[in-house]
Amino acid sequence: MVHLSAQEKAALAEIAQAIVAPGKGILAADESTGTIGKRFAGIQVENVEDNRQAYRELLFTAEPAEALSKSLGGVIFFEETLYQKTKDGKLFTQVLQERGIIPGIKVDKGVTQLLGTDGETTTAGLDGLAERLQKYYDAGARFAKWRCVLKIGNGCPTFLAIDENAHVLARYASICQANRIVPIVEPEILMDGDHDLEVAKDVTERVLAAVYKKLNEHHVYLEGSLLKPNMVCPGQDCPKKYTPQEIAEATVTVLRRTVPAAVPGITFLSGGQSEEAATVHLNEMNRTSALRPWSLTFSYGRALQSSCLKTWQGKPENVKAAQDVLTKRAIANSQAAVGKYTGDAADSNAGESLYVKNYKY
Ligand code: 13P
Repeated sequence: MVHLSAQEKAALAEIAQAIVAPGKGILAADESTGTIGKRFAGIQVENVEDNRQAYRELLFTAEPAEALSKSLGGVIFFEETLYQKTKDGKLFTQVLQERGIIPGIKVDKGVTQLLGTDGETTTAGLDGLAERLQKYYDAGARFAKWRCVLKIGNGCPTFLAIDENAHVLARYASICQANRIVPIVEPEILMDGDHDLEVAKDVTERVLAAVYKKLNEHHVYLEGSLLKPNMVCPGQDCPKKYTPQEIAEATVTVLRRTVPAAVPGITFLSGGQSEEAATVHLNEMNRTSALRPWSLTFSYGRALQSSCLKTWQGKPENVKAAQDVLTKRAIANSQAAVGKYTGDAADSNAGESLYVKNYKY
């Protein structure tokens, strides 16, 4: 029988806890080459390696260093970034390590259609995963992310989609742990649709219950894992509006029903919410009176980078201003992760919806 040793378990748990230490969350900078190209197109920047390197250097070297060190426990890279360096020749992984931030990596290979369904998907990337993880570990990665995608409406998600995605997430998590890597388990339910909060709540509950059942069946060591779920939000086209308190309460209720207390942290994706909404919702969750045995924090992509990208515009003279915008949002989210955000990072850019239909990462 293959088991994790006590030392291997302790090492995984230590990494998972460090990532979600009080006031810390994750910067998801793991856009694939195709996805970052779409972001760059929005600011008329060419999608070439030099520009991707320059943009990621901007993110990881933002000053003051303490601001990012205090608010980020981890950064998720795309594979290319794991091996990239600053202009001065320092590996990005080293830049982060010196700031006390743990490097992680997206390891899935994107979604692929499930035959006979209404466009439902599973996620590819299990083939060769163990070998890739060993390489990534040697390059400094200590955690990984794998995104599965589910959608609501027209009979979806089906039992097949829920079951298959729970299975693939559990298999991925078990391969990660066997290779000393902390898995972030991400079953993202898209905001596409006109469903209300009750429907989102019901579907998220069913999906997370299925995920934890499979993680259990695959002997995943929960203390050495993290969950990256969607917040429970109404569909993008739902006519009814809800308060941040209602969204926070729905989300915490679902998590309490489904996520074991052994899981050290829940690191939300932003999923198309505006930067400010993602911060406010997280803050409200951390202010609810319900018992929360896990840390509730952020692992935002769009909600940490949108204003920063717009400020940068690909111009060297804007780097400092763009870094300041990133730092401001990171601090705001760090405060929200402990329920102490006061609203001072709100501005017109941060309020803009970042929703993209059928979003690919
Ligand atoms: P968003 O915060 O932009 O939804 O992305 C986070 C992420 O990593 C999705 O996989």
